Amino acid sequence: MDGPSESNDKTLFTPGPLTTSASVKQAMLRDLGSRDGEFIAIAAEIRDHLLRLAAVSQDSGWEAIPVQGSGTFAIESVISSVLPPDGKLLVVINGAYGERAARIAAIHGINVIPLRSHEDRPLDPAAIADHLDGVTHLFAVHCETTTGVLNPIAEIGAIAREHGVTCIIDAMSSFGGVPIDVDAAQIDFLVSSANKCIEGVPGFAFVLARRDALLAGEGSARSLSLDLVAQWRGLEANGQFRFTPPTHAILAFHQALRELDEEGGVAGRNARYRANQQKLLAGMREMRFRQLIAPEHQTPIITTFRYPDHPRFTFETFYQRLSDKGFVIYPGKLSQADCFRIATIGRIFPADVEALLAAIRESLDQMGVPDGS
Ligand SMILES: *Cc1c(COP(=O)(O)O)cnc(C)c1O
Repeated sequence: MDGPSESNDKTLFTPGPLTTSASVKQAMLRDLGSRDGEFIAIAAEIRDHLLRLAAVSQDSGWEAIPVQGSGTFAIESVISSVLPPDGKLLVVINGAYGERAARIAAIHGINVIPLRSHEDRPLDPAAIADHLDGVTHLFAVHCETTTGVLNPIAEIGAIAREHGVTCIIDAMSSFGGVPIDVDAAQIDFLVSSANKCIEGVPGFAFVLARRDALLAGEGSARSLSLDLVAQWRGLEANGQFRFTPPTHAILAFHQALRELDEEGGVAGRNARYRANQQKLLAGMREMRFRQLIAPEHQTPIITTFRYPDHPRFTFETFYQRLSDKGFVIYPGKLSQADCFRIATIGRIFPADVEALLAAIRESLDQMGVPDGS
């Protein structure tokens, strides 16, 4: 397996775009027509493969719908397409991506109820049941990439189902890297994108939808380009995208899916991400960095660390020194605490994490910061 050492680019410890394999990048070195038979076959294979990754199928009532754009476009596509005019959306929020979903709904004039809770803790399913009065749809994030906290989507899905509420899950940063049993979790819509755990390049996102929940939204679209039902109908009719697809990104994704299989599927990838994170946590603890999320609620996707409490520490300098050494980390996104983030997804291995840790040690030393505490 090739890693970042095969290229001259910096290693990305970010939650997407992320470091991809040379073979995934190589797969893009072609020009395929979007109406060409070969491209249509590849797009069909991808849709099929995505359903298989989620252990569902068209026969069991599921559809995979790619949507051009970044992950947010697919989130907006679901929210703006499937909520009926008199629908009511409950968004349970413990981070920036929950906030974003509530904002999308508000912009489309959808009746939206934001239910906020602590950013450093998982959502509490029991607290949700009290807020479902008149609610038709519920939105929750699986791995809140803001912190890396893991939300209990199976319990949330069960509560939604019990109340006859359609459940929309943003699994952007977890799908493909964390096992999700979408059917058992009673999810109706799951959204993820090409450039996260499947390790493709940016350019499109995708929605896995229960067909009956999708069709229930027919006629509710508030936008032409993000009309999810029309996008699905277009693909079903002739295998083609309605509007220009990101052909190169789709070729890369096709290869990325093959490599995910070769790694042992979601379980194999999850094992590597865990190994990356364990290496990271051991090294950061040695340097006395403090982790924001309790280990039992932490995903292997991204980890949040508090700034060292030292006057000579500034994030800008720390970031720049690591970048100069070939490592890109991620700023914090929290409202209350000063933190930075390190993602452990993408084509990176424990040896790459080890190299990052050495660069962190050296950077702290150069800054005159004794340790991460
Ligand atoms: C990455 C991400 C998104 C989408 O972000 P884009 O920048 O639009 O790709 C949405 N939700 C979560 C949880 C994410 O991690």
